Amino acid sequence: MRYIDYFDLKRIRCILPEDWLEEWLVKAKDAEEQVSLGIDIDKYAQVWRDFKPALESIIGQKCWYCETIQPRSDKEVDHFRPKKTLLDVIPKHTGYIWLAFNYKNFRYSCQFCNKIRTDKVNNTKGGKGSYFPLIDESKRAWKPGDEVSEKPKLLDPCVEEDVKLLDFNEDGTPCHIPSANADDQDRVKISIQRYHLHHSALVEDRKRLARDLEQAIVDAEYFFQTFATQQDQKILDKFQDKLKLLKTAINITSEYSLFAERYVAGKRNYDWIALVFI
Ligand SMILES: [Zn+2]
Repeated sequence: MRYIDYFDLKRIRCILPEDWLEEWLVKAKDAEEQVSLGIDIDKYAQVWRDFKPALESIIGQKCWYCETIQPRSDKEVDHFRPKKTLLDVIPKHTGYIWLAFNYKNFRYSCQFCNKIRTDKVNNTKGGKGSYFPLIDESKRAWKPGDEVSEKPKLLDPCVEEDVKLLDFNEDGTPCHIPSANADDQDRVKISIQRYHLHHSALVEDRKRLARDLEQAIVDAEYFFQTFATQQDQKILDKFQDKLKLLKTAINITSEYSLFAERYVAGKRNYDWIALVFI
């Protein structure tokens, strides 16, 4: 998960055709009115699907929750606050229907993070579905506007402080940062489960990435030390190639880039890592 800053829409306006956003906002307003009159919300599903190009214009076709690209898998526009009946909420809550066409409630998600599924390899169940737990259930919003008082348990990629709470072990498993307080530890734990960040396929991918990063770091250190004694331009070029590889891995558009960033930062005992990456 990386911090996604898109609410002011400046970037989207630059990338997408002129008037695209204005036209979409008109469609969204119309859908909102029809749904408020009692028309089935699913009849207007195309409206939020139509917003996908805007979400994709930010960091490409990478899931905002798990950071996978999965080119052959369809991505979805997830409603961060679910638009339909919430799970595990008593009394029954029929969902944040008033946010169904509000782009600020949209998150770009793969189907694995969005839908409830079981991982048969490590016997874990995950997927966001219609879960939206709060730290304090008494603050649950039942009408438009009241959601500002809610404190969601799920980490939100559009909240910078939330993303900072997520960390990883070197074996690729997700965890909270060491300094997280009890509430935040609980938030990270629930988010890992709901977004299925501990899915075996993701852990294996991160392990593989860790091996590549480790090799690049070992090579870079060798070239760094060799250049210190030989001052050879070719050695310096090789060192810079390795640096480039590490910089690409932590770029926000790369798969598992938060894991890569945390992994590289964990090697700060190397002078050049402390200098370039911290
Ligand atoms: Zn995902």
